[in-house]
Amino acid sequence: MVVGAGLAGLSAATRLAAAGCDVQVLEGAGHVGGRLATDRIDGFLVDRGFQVLNTGYPRVADLDLAALELGWFLTGARIWVDGRSSAVVDPRSRPLSLPRTATAPIGSLREKAALAAFSLRAGYLPVPRLLAAPERTAAEALQRAGLGGAVLERFLRPFLAGVLLEDRLETSSRYLDLLWRSFVRGRIGLPARGMQSVGEQLADRLPAGALHLRCHVTEVTGEGVQTGAGRITADAVVVATDPTTAAELLPGVTAAAPRQVTTHLHVLPGSPWDEPLLVLGRPGGQLVNSAVLTDAQPRYGPDGRALVASSTLGPTREADVREEVARAHGVAATDLEHLTSVTVPRAQPAAAPPLQLRRPVDLGHGLFVCGDHRDTPSIQGAMAGGARAARAVLHRLRPAADSGPTLAR
Ligand SMILES: Cc1cc2nc3c(=O)[nH]c(=O)nc-3n(C[C@H](O)[C@H](O)[C@H](O)COP(=O)(O)OP(=O)(O)OC[C@H]3O[C@@H](n4cnc5c(N)ncnc54)[C@H](O)[C@@H]3O)c2cc1C
Repeated sequence: MVVGAGLAGLSAATRLAAAGCDVQVLEGAGHVGGRLATDRIDGFLVDRGFQVLNTGYPRVADLDLAALELGWFLTGARIWVDGRSSAVVDPRSRPLSLPRTATAPIGSLREKAALAAFSLRAGYLPVPRLLAAPERTAAEALQRAGLGGAVLERFLRPFLAGVLLEDRLETSSRYLDLLWRSFVRGRIGLPARGMQSVGEQLADRLPAGALHLRCHVTEVTGEGVQTGAGRITADAVVVATDPTTAAELLPGVTAAAPRQVTTHLHVLPGSPWDEPLLVLGRPGGQLVNSAVLTDAQPRYGPDGRALVASSTLGPTREADVREEVARAHGVAATDLEHLTSVTVPRAQPAAAPPLQLRRPVDLGHGLFVCGDHRDTPSIQGAMAGGARAARAVLHRLRPAADSGPTLAR
């Protein structure tokens, strides 16, 4: 029995089903994918909060990327300094961008060299060596890497704030290393049918009848679960809910402080840009970033109009940020048509030091737990945790043949 059909629960359930187990997935919401959720509003695809799929995550190997029909952002970002916008683009992905990136006002040559060195280290050192480095806050680690000046304030802080959902950079340097590694090694994209389609792809691999939507679980033991419709027994129960619910259902499991984000969606008659690039918020502003989603994935819009997603860490109102969104894209505020806004109060758990990577997933007596709170607060963490939980369940249910294709019961 798997409780929760987010990426963690689906990763666990698909593995258990592939190994021949009789798996049932109980999901409280009316859709799969958990926090990767997409609505359709006036013909536009609207993810619940700006998020992207990073192909540098190791567990992305479990997905059929071709079927997701990803549209790509360029690796890098656009910044505004003294009223002028400049693009900072990874020259490996677009060699012709090297001269403008080299001259972009993100700090001295020394800082740019330090950024290249930091990227090479995170991207190409073996993971055990990265994790063996002394753990600090991200802010301290960047400072020690020579990245404390303009490059921090104009580029790294707003870029990382959009991913870590905090701008003090108090996140663990170990998570920063793993995250930066994924940016160095992969690309970031949006699926043609929205971020929810990532979960839907995994759910499609489950046997018919294994998924039960709108089935809210109120209690769990290693022998079964209690739902509004009654008690269901199981040989093993995997709790793959969000961190807060996991902590409520499972004594001894604690939830890290949640990070929140508010995303405002606007429509423009057309894109103001000629390349798909994230625009970073300016120091002192409320926006951490803003992106024309349809530049990366035209299928997020119905008719060639541009869909813009702009995020703030605090719970802002649209009127508070409209001018800033307009300035970010060099358009008039009156050109922006407000589509919707979404605040996600528990977007992801904090990853402050000490980072507890790969927390135990086998709680004993038939109870298992997985989710982004057991690994890293990301798509990668959720999927990796689900895979670990499935292995642990198989090990418990049939210790002699961990993952053979025989029936578990
Ligand atoms: C706005 C936003 C932006 C993000 N951006 C990124 C990004 O760009 N890159 C990245 O890697 N990560 C990003 N993340 C984080 C990423 O989405 C999550 O880390 C990941 O999706 C968590 O998956 P999960 O399966 O652990 O949990 P969830 O997705 O929370 O899944 C848990 C599931 O359990 C269900 N559930 C809860 N309680 C019960 C119950 N009692 N009974 C039955 N079912 C229950 C829930 O409905 C849900 O479907 C972002 C998150 C948000 C919200």
